Amino acid sequence: MSSARSKFEEIGRILRAHQRFAVMSHVRPDGDALGSQLALSLSLQQLGKDVRVWNEEGMLEKYSFLPRAELVTKPPSTPEDFDCAIALDTAIQNRLGTALGAVRSAKIWINIDHHPSNPGYGDVIHVDPDAPATAEIIFRLIKSQSLPFNRDIAENLYAAISTDTGSFQYPKTSAHTFEIAAELIRAGLDVGRLNQQLYENYPRRRLELLRELLRTMRFEHGDRVASVSLSLKTSAGLGVLPEDNEGLIDHLRAVRGVIVAVFFEELADGKVRVSMRSKSEVVDVSAICQKFGGGGHTLAAGARVPGTLAEVEKKVMEKIGNVLESHS
Ligand code: AMP
Ligand code: MN
Ligand code: MN
Repeated sequence: MSSARSKFEEIGRILRAHQRFAVMSHVRPDGDALGSQLALSLSLQQLGKDVRVWNEEGMLEKYSFLPRAELVTKPPSTPEDFDCAIALDTAIQNRLGTALGAVRSAKIWINIDHHPSNPGYGDVIHVDPDAPATAEIIFRLIKSQSLPFNRDIAENLYAAISTDTGSFQYPKTSAHTFEIAAELIRAGLDVGRLNQQLYENYPRRRLELLRELLRTMRFEHGDRVASVSLSLKTSAGLGVLPEDNEGLIDHLRAVRGVIVAVFFEELADGKVRVSMRSKSEVVDVSAICQKFGGGGHTLAAGARVPGTLAEVEKKVMEKIGNVLESHS
């Protein structure tokens, strides 16, 4: 705990001492990536800093209701120089994608994350694998260092924590998480409205996608592994965006007896995006995904694996089968 405090003090000093910042997060961003970026950037702006808020995909349509969402842009093609570059919620540095290439130089790289698989790149590293969301670390940083805080920042943090904890359900959700949520609500945010924007405002095509995915549903390894697959042809036919499938995998994990849920998504670059969820600490999906060059958390991880859908499905299902057998 005291080492976290001194790390926050070090980061706080660096933030106050510099002027030009790039605040970035991972490709295929989720609510935690974008909400953490916006929250920290808004606090830095209030301190009078120049801040670039970059994500490879820019702001997603589904999170465009977040306060000051317009600050998140795609990185420019001409690289820029910074005093300080900050990577948030990004397990490996190259998952910053084109944002990484847009930083020509930075005197200091800060890495703030909660993925246990984060190898600790950068000059100042604060990786807390117990935190259920990067946004929880950002909240602690802001509060412990008396950095600017307001309702817009609170809404971004709440959206980030809510989405990364599966609405305060996943095992890393702690009493402290609820205490932070209470403080965020006290800052004046409207929980009902925010939850509607987060969870009751999906485009119809997301449900149409779910219908197609359920047609591909398979149960293997004694019904302990459930999977679905999405081909490029199906996504083009439905006109779905990459962001539309976030969370659909939870339908598989929610089935009684299922320990591992897997989502296979064919990508245009000859790779398959594999998204994995586990219901048991005994089956560490981050370890499985690391074998395929990916990473993540014990219960939620991913990888991008070269090959066709059928090839990757076979390889990945075999690996999961081996892990299950070694534990049964
Ligand atoms: P997803 O299944 O895409 O929602 O990702 C689940 C978790 O695994 C997230 O915390 C991601 O940051 C992490 N993750 C996903 N894909 C990768 C990858 N290719 N490499 C490292 N971590 C990943
Ligand atoms: Mn994330
Ligand atoms: Mn996260």
